[in-house]
Amino acid sequence: MGVGAGALSGGTALALVPTMGALHEGHRSLIRLARERADQVAVSIFVNPLQFGPSEDFSRYPRTFEADLEICRAEGVGIVFAPSAEEMYPPGRQVGVSAGAMGSVVEGEFRPGHLDGVLTVVLKLFNLVQPDVAVFGQKDAQQLAVIRRMVADLNLPVTVVGAPTIREPDGLALSSRNRYLSPEDRPVALALSRALDEGVREHRAPLVRRAARAVLDAEPSLVLDYLVLVDPATFAEVGDDHTGEAILAVAARVGTTRLIDNVTLTLG
Ligand code: AMP
Repeated sequence: MGVGAGALSGGTALALVPTMGALHEGHRSLIRLARERADQVAVSIFVNPLQFGPSEDFSRYPRTFEADLEICRAEGVGIVFAPSAEEMYPPGRQVGVSAGAMGSVVEGEFRPGHLDGVLTVVLKLFNLVQPDVAVFGQKDAQQLAVIRRMVADLNLPVTVVGAPTIREPDGLALSSRNRYLSPEDRPVALALSRALDEGVREHRAPLVRRAARAVLDAEPSLVLDYLVLVDPATFAEVGDDHTGEAILAVAARVGTTRLIDNVTLTLG
């Protein structure tokens, strides 16, 4: 287990769980992990305009602040940090963080600037809250990878903890965006996790891709953005003969909702 600066200096360790609110069981699991890692837990709630593209769902993103506070209270969160966009981004802003080449592949290809926006707000949150530990979900695997890269490349004094994806009993990964899904969308959305399930049965890259792809192709009302098998650290596509860990990641639109999911598997 990583020990934060606060713990090393004999102070009380503080763990931060950054969120955009509309909290669900996935967020709760991050909070619980944070409580295991530190004496104090802070949750930030901020729908970060910088990480939304002009045609994305920033204005309709669910905002459920009172219910979020209830969840934080119930989970023993000591600090809720919920700044306004004006507080976070006063006029005249110029400087931000670049995710580098990793920011323009896979998710970055479909959401240009998204990962730069994520890193910029995460660095600001680290500076404002000064946590020893920060917990992020594996659900957003590329986000977690670029955050780990930022912490390493910029020598940030924060221990990053990745948390497993929490799912509905039928396999759908929990997401604040699931509430956009209509009753007709819901069974179609299950194709994402089913595709990943089929992929992990295989152990060679071409077979993994083919098995997952077959599930998605069988769902004509799903609009696929990408299905990729990538190196967990760089998000570069792995070769057909790759052995070791890889991430099978998918993004697709179901009705008006864009969903992402991924699974880590071992090839070879
Ligand atoms: P968000 O509020 O969607 O920005 O997510 C805040 C944090 O919760 C991120 O680190 C996400 O990866 C994580 N998260 C979102 N959905 C899940 C899930 N189903 N299981 C675990 N963590 C999740």
